[in-house]
Amino acid sequence: MATEQIKIPKATAKRLPLYYRFLQNLYQTGKLRVSSAELSEAVKVDSATIRRDFSYFGALGKKGYGYNVQYLLNFFRKTLDQDELTKVALIGVGNLGTALLRYNFTKNNNTKICYAFDTNEGKVGTKISDVTVYSLDQLEEIIEKEDIQVVILTVPAHAAQTVTDRLVKTNVKGILNFTPARLNVPPTINVHHIDLAVELQSFVYFIKNYSNEESEAVEENEESKV
Ligand code: ATP
Repeated sequence: MATEQIKIPKATAKRLPLYYRFLQNLYQTGKLRVSSAELSEAVKVDSATIRRDFSYFGALGKKGYGYNVQYLLNFFRKTLDQDELTKVALIGVGNLGTALLRYNFTKNNNTKICYAFDTNEGKVGTKISDVTVYSLDQLEEIIEKEDIQVVILTVPAHAAQTVTDRLVKTNVKGILNFTPARLNVPPTINVHHIDLAVELQSFVYFIKNYSNEESEAVEENEESKV
């Protein structure tokens, strides 16, 4: 079953890599089957949610048996397009951009940052973890030639929209936006916003204001709205 044929809720789609990573670990330890309760304990998602998530792909589990690890793994690999390496470009090689370039994404999934861009002449031409930093002047040319469809944005907030406007004119389909800026894009482009400062701030707020049970209840409520 290919992903484009099934419309799964965004919240479910977000959990797929989590399931995938855990199943890979299980498989490596030689485990053949897993129950939704075990999965739930490991990935910290309640088992009802897991069963509901899996039900979007058809009846994958059997009562009293659980799920076949190898089958699930193959299924997720195909669904997440893990058989094919997805080339990603990163724009803005500052502290965060450099950290992401140094992080080995291929360890857990089949995506790789292959190209980096920056406006700083001192950075252009240098290499970070084997990835060459190109001038922003070459952005469109390289993105089109290499058919890059996913871009990570780690430029300063004030530069985010201008860079995005250039990406909109290419074949890019997704932007992982690490800047605090909210981006205006046409509906053909997906933006996933990760603002680490906001995440940290809201996490600290939660820790200070809610007990563990309360925050879980709030999360479950959010889930049921999806
Ligand atoms: P970070 O925000 O990742 O901690 P930083 O504080 O080191 O980084 P920033 O000022 O946020 O630096 O800039 C991040 C990177 O983006 C820098 O390397 C900078 O040269 C680069 N940059 C700035 N403007 C642009 C732009 N329009 N396009 C591409 N890169 C840019």
